Amino acid sequence: MNFFPIFTQLRGRKVLIVGAGEVAVRKLSLVYQAGAEVIVVAPELGSSLVAFVNRVNHQRLSIIEREYQSDDLNDVHLVIAATANAQVNQQVFNDAEERKLFVNVVDNSPLCSFITPAIVDRSPLTIAISSGGEAPVLARLIRGKLESWIPASYGKLAQLAAKFRHRVKAALPTGTLRKRFWENVFEGVIADKVFNNESAKAESLLQQHLQHAVNASDVPTKGEVYLVGAGPGDPDLLTFKALRLMQQADVVVYDRLVSKPILNLIRRDADRIYVGKEKAAHCVPQNEINQLLIDLANQGKRVVRLKGGDPYIFGRGGEEAQQLVKAGVAFEAVPGITSAAGTANYCGIPLTHRDFAQSVTFATGHLKNNTVDLNWPALAQSNNTLVIYMGLTGLTTISEQLINHGRLANTPVAVVQNATRPDQKVVIGDLTSIAEKVVQAKIESPAMIIIGEVVSLYDELNQPSNDLPLIEALPLIEQDDVAEPLRKIA
Ligand code: SAH
Repeated sequence: MNFFPIFTQLRGRKVLIVGAGEVAVRKLSLVYQAGAEVIVVAPELGSSLVAFVNRVNHQRLSIIEREYQSDDLNDVHLVIAATANAQVNQQVFNDAEERKLFVNVVDNSPLCSFITPAIVDRSPLTIAISSGGEAPVLARLIRGKLESWIPASYGKLAQLAAKFRHRVKAALPTGTLRKRFWENVFEGVIADKVFNNESAKAESLLQQHLQHAVNASDVPTKGEVYLVGAGPGDPDLLTFKALRLMQQADVVVYDRLVSKPILNLIRRDADRIYVGKEKAAHCVPQNEINQLLIDLANQGKRVVRLKGGDPYIFGRGGEEAQQLVKAGVAFEAVPGITSAAGTANYCGIPLTHRDFAQSVTFATGHLKNNTVDLNWPALAQSNNTLVIYMGLTGLTTISEQLINHGRLANTPVAVVQNATRPDQKVVIGDLTSIAEKVVQAKIESPAMIIIGEVVSLYDELNQPSNDLPLIEALPLIEQDDVAEPLRKIA
């Protein structure tokens, strides 16, 4: 993080703006709206500045019409320089640094100890976005998305929360109860009323809801467990439901296959517990994981058990669910994209195709006592695609058994490591050559094995995504992140 974001309280504090052109006025209007006492120093005033001064009638605004001098920094909290004169800008920066004052020289990041972000304003809710000055266009694009995604009336919702905050704090003794209470307010019918401009109704519902919560607060809250599939690694493959639950969780219990970019989407203050699973070496034994989930739920927590792929496909989700039922803990399973589907789609290997395979089988290659205990005659059928999870160690045995049971030796095979992730690696061979090729390519777990004629489509369908036509680029506007004028909240 190159810049540490903070929100400053400028009400009643002095801010110096050096310069009086268009850019200076843009900055002036922002700090002015935040309640600052603004001093503008400049030898000449631009027409926008004159118009601004007339509009606010000199209130909280002093204009000093002369060149900048160091003493102008006396008694100010913040300095912004927006002049066309590089020497003056440099001087302002040097003086401010000497006095340890935060300074921003507009559009000159080496001369900034603070920068102004792009703002989405739903006062009192304020969202600030910054690319640290590196990609202002990107920051503005994101602001545009947030602007359309967060209704303007979210500000009113935040105002409602502010009005009742102390009452709720006094009525509900624990942080967990208060968190649940506010989540219900913000996501349910009360928020709908606010969005529909029915604020009186929203307030009376909120009071009723608070009374309910107080009455129920003596009863210990029962937690719940969500067995959530996180997909094979690319965070774009998460479901909306998975994301929502990850954002609401009190605690997330996850294993090795859940990728880092996905972990970054978990609510920041949720507890995270790693119970890393690796074939034949579970970090935490399964019965301890089951007990952990039950204990956490019994503490009243909302638990997300995050698993790679789909929880009910070779994920032990079924076993965990059975134990939860036995312990009387409420649970829900949330499907994820299983790695077979992720691999197939990201490699250009359709798992079925009318010319090649009319069925597909998912099997585990997990070795039990060094043997792969599978129904070989069934798996060796032609016109079937065989997808093997956890099969890397047993690959030689698997290939031999399939040939022994009638599958053609030249049946094509793909082995894919880290499917859907930026470091995805693919090795193509056939039943006789694949084991050796995998060793040569140093393929490691997690890897998926796809066996069958559909693999022959790889050459034709494996289109790198950078061959896709690009949407015409937006014209680049190289300027500071400019915030829009504050929205008025009715
Ligand atoms: N529940 C998971 C599977 C867990 S078993 C799912 O539905 O995908 C673990 C095995 O899944 C690994 O040994 C590997 O064979 C496969 N796997 C998981 N993620 C993978 C990935 N990104 N790339 C390739 N294989 C993966």
